[in-house]
Amino acid sequence: MLKLQLVTYPHPTLRHRSKPILRVDAQLKEIVEQMFEVMYEFRGVGLAANQVNLPIRLFVANPSGEKNERDQEMVFINPVINKPKGTVEAEEGCLSLPGINAHVKRSRSLQISAYDISGTEIAGEVDGFLARIIQHETDHLDGMLFIDRLSDETRRPLDDDLYKLERRFLESREQGTIPPDGQLADETAAWEKKYC
Ligand code: ZN
Repeated sequence: MLKLQLVTYPHPTLRHRSKPILRVDAQLKEIVEQMFEVMYEFRGVGLAANQVNLPIRLFVANPSGEKNERDQEMVFINPVINKPKGTVEAEEGCLSLPGINAHVKRSRSLQISAYDISGTEIAGEVDGFLARIIQHETDHLDGMLFIDRLSDETRRPLDDDLYKLERRFLESREQGTIPPDGQLADETAAWEKKYC
């Protein structure tokens, strides 16, 4: 069984736009369990599949961020956001952008439709913190990061920290801990062939 690991900016899989998932099997259930573990390990409240180098359209969330509050765990497969309403700005961070935070404008409320891991349809109107998590994670599945939603003025102070992450990524590549783009593309194609 593969061991999922968090990938950080500017890993190419974070820029991958995932295709919908067409089948759920035992391995996918194991993937979801591991994604929750990675999310708790890094003290997150949501984690998209591309953040663990998987090009498939799902994310997990737990607004409490607490491992012992399992009743708040949610799995969203093939999420679709409709009828966004209003605007609200609040600070966001991202496990794939360690040490970087900024105020991001999001819709205040939205309608979400998705499937959970048992194939049950999830549909409803959401607002507050969960609406923000859903928008942040759905962006990930489209290859988008919260820094892409900032104005130039808001983003400029983050440039030094982003540059440090880019340097660190290049070093990991040189050390061979991150595969070259060609190998990543082959892995992506294999996952898509299996699930999409
Ligand atoms: Zn994120």
